[in-house]
Amino acid sequence: MPVRSLGSPHRSGPSPQLAETPELRSALSWFTKNLAWINDQQVRITEIPAPPFQEAARASVVKTLLAESGLNVQIDKTGNVIGELPGANDKEIVMLTAHLDTVFPPGTDVKVRRDAERLSAPGISDNGTGLAALVSIARAIQESKIKPRRTILFVADVGEEGEGNLRGMRALVEAYRARLKAAVVLDGSGTDHVTTKALASRRLEVLITGPGGHSWSDFGMPNPINALVRGSIRFINTKVPANPRTTFNLGQIEGGTSVNSIPYDAKLKVDIRSESEDELGKLESALRESISAGIRDEMESSRDRTKGKLDWKIDVLGTRPGGELSPNSPLLAALRAADDYVSNQSRIERSSTDANIPLANGIDAISIGAGGAGGGAHSLQEWYEPSGREMGLKRALLTLLGISRIAEEKAK
Ligand SMILES: [Zn+2]
Repeated sequence: MPVRSLGSPHRSGPSPQLAETPELRSALSWFTKNLAWINDQQVRITEIPAPPFQEAARASVVKTLLAESGLNVQIDKTGNVIGELPGANDKEIVMLTAHLDTVFPPGTDVKVRRDAERLSAPGISDNGTGLAALVSIARAIQESKIKPRRTILFVADVGEEGEGNLRGMRALVEAYRARLKAAVVLDGSGTDHVTTKALASRRLEVLITGPGGHSWSDFGMPNPINALVRGSIRFINTKVPANPRTTFNLGQIEGGTSVNSIPYDAKLKVDIRSESEDELGKLESALRESISAGIRDEMESSRDRTKGKLDWKIDVLGTRPGGELSPNSPLLAALRAADDYVSNQSRIERSSTDANIPLANGIDAISIGAGGAGGGAHSLQEWYEPSGREMGLKRALLTLLGISRIAEEKAK
């Protein structure tokens, strides 16, 4: 029987040669045969709440699912679920990961609604899709008895969203750094992109404090909310370049105790992102200068300075380093070969994902969607349509096996 290669002959650079063996064909057809099971697992996983720092209940179900496919599974001390498929060469590791956490706080209704082709629930796509793909790909490979050349770790990791600050991925890179050759991150739905460039970002928290007092009798005392508003207006007038693209978001604001009290504190959380670390540094300085000026404005206009002064500080809540995958990397070649095989086209993207951490450490990594269509990520209206999802699953499996390779057959 002719053996078709999944590498395209005209591609420059290292092209993965993945022979289309019966085992590989069986793994690829596994998805189509098991679509109902895959969708059911996605619903089941999504209905277990996983707020930031509270991923344990969901982790334990994913652990069971990975163990049922025959992997040796453990949960590390950070909370990551790690299922190991030993390779012929266990000195080299490739990871397939999907984050467990959602952005939704405890108490959010995560019951999945099914109408016709559509599943709706907070977190159904981000990252119900990635997690369902993770357990399905593990199962497809195991049931087809594929033995990889490099060891594959199937990982459901914690702390991808917001203040989780990529702590799960940081721990993984720390633990496996010496043997880790590549990471494929499954995040959300779709097959239209491949994230090879890590967007650098910082999350900052501004805290302004003052004596606080009564709205009537202490009128004229410096007010932390006033100062925060004054500083914020200065900051949002900062000019940022369109190229390199640089953005900011005032995402959360809180403070005060009642409408007739001069507050004793005011807090603001700001997210800043840029394609350039330089611009990121400038934008952080602009925030510090704006807040400092806002404090000064408020102190100057306060009518009674004997009633105290304002203090302020800015803390860095999180930082995501930047980095880029080389255009000649074997991992990108494996993804492109997979795209060719499933007749998919995808564009290169820059984004802030779990792939930031390996990329910043010089380890090849990409983040891709796991197929199907989704929308409304991070909102209560989030939805997912599984129709056609098997293409994304095949693409991810082929990319993973393209980079882990398949162990040579024993003597023929
Ligand atoms: Zn996500």
